[in-house]
Amino acid sequence: MPIRRVFLRTLGCPKNEVDGGVLARHLAKMGFIFVNSPEQADIEIVNTCGFIEPSKVESLDAIWEAVERKQAAGEGKRQLIVTGCLAQRYGQQLKNEITEIDAIVGFDRPDLVLKAIDASHTGAPACWVEKPGRVYRDDAMSLWPADQKAPLSAYVKVADGCDNGCRYCAIPLIRGKLRSRSLTSIVGEIESLVSAGTREVILVAQDTTSWGIDRADGSDLAKLLGEIDRIPEEFWVRVMYAHPAFLTDQQIEVMAGSRHIVPYLDMPLQHATDHMLRIMNRGVTRAQTQSRIDTLRRARPGMALRTTFIVGHPGETEADFEELLAFAEENTFERMGVFTYSKEEGTPSALLPGEVPVELALERQARLTEAFDQWSADASVDLIGKIIPCVLESGSHDRWEGRSVYDAPEIDGQVTVMGIVDEPGIHPVLIENASGVDLTGRRVDYSVRPDRVATITEPRGAF
Ligand code: SF4
Repeated sequence: MPIRRVFLRTLGCPKNEVDGGVLARHLAKMGFIFVNSPEQADIEIVNTCGFIEPSKVESLDAIWEAVERKQAAGEGKRQLIVTGCLAQRYGQQLKNEITEIDAIVGFDRPDLVLKAIDASHTGAPACWVEKPGRVYRDDAMSLWPADQKAPLSAYVKVADGCDNGCRYCAIPLIRGKLRSRSLTSIVGEIESLVSAGTREVILVAQDTTSWGIDRADGSDLAKLLGEIDRIPEEFWVRVMYAHPAFLTDQQIEVMAGSRHIVPYLDMPLQHATDHMLRIMNRGVTRAQTQSRIDTLRRARPGMALRTTFIVGHPGETEADFEELLAFAEENTFERMGVFTYSKEEGTPSALLPGEVPVELALERQARLTEAFDQWSADASVDLIGKIIPCVLESGSHDRWEGRSVYDAPEIDGQVTVMGIVDEPGIHPVLIENASGVDLTGRRVDYSVRPDRVATITEPRGAF
């Protein structure tokens, strides 16, 4: 069998990144070699995102770039496989409009991608897009191979799909209904990662707090987090994509008493007024949201709460926006993203009256982001002189880059650290300066637990 070289490009969210990783491991097990540059590949796979307009454009650009490379290589010299959410959502359109594609495969189907590679393609692209069922794919593929070093930080997808039905969201149309992995398979994957070197496990799903409610075995996130906490090694757990309607007191209690779960939670709220939460069908009120935030902050003082808001959703009035701004300023979220509404075909919101002009939506996005930049910069200054645990990911000798315990990859702040660091990993850092949510500091010889911040005045090794 000739060596077949694969170039895999993954776009979109951490869940699609997990799917890309599982696909790569599956193909590697079948003897395929992965190359870093597309020019060297025999097979190019584009693992697309199809969530909102900008990400669809980015995915189409990636496909056309691959088409150009295929045409330049000459007839029959290269294969082009398109998978992921754009393939799942627009499989037929892609088949009709981009005939240079050899095969279009729905998201998270490594088995079908392999079949597509082995099949000979003549004429129109093959299109294998199936409606996702109610059972999570075969899990053995999720285990990290024991003979390979695992990444320092790894996303672990605990479920796929979503039953929440937020009116603006296309994800249920793409990824289907909620289907949770079993507790055993998730804990098994985390153990395989941690024993192969991972020191930060990031739990992701469309709605992590709904994990297990579709399983008839009494599964719920509090139980899962409790089981993960029993894994003996030293590592961090970061929980992303919590939903305020499904965040329970038990989950908060387990997070607060955990030895692994960092003092950080990502909980997209999307809006804050009862009027907009109703229109968006978020299944929660402002008061209920506030009570979740207050319960979290009481249970974990000093934690970083991340959220995202959508501005410019149909029906949003100036009064709604002013109330949202006031709500965000009152809660001074430590980390925050603000998006303008994206009209997505097939979603109920796309048919709603009361459209907000794009310029106004952009203006609201700018005002809310500006406010966040101000209060988050002030909060960062308060960390100067404190020792906080940081995950240092890249660098050499005495200059390293990474993130503090309050920052998730790709979406939050960065930390730049001077001082001798012998290897990537979790290190205590004395913060010396701040710019917005980005920090600079010096590695210090202190042992700091993930949920503590020391001050230089505290006795060495106080924790
Ligand atoms: S919780 Fe809402 S926004 Fe998130 S994936 Fe589900 S339907 Fe979409």
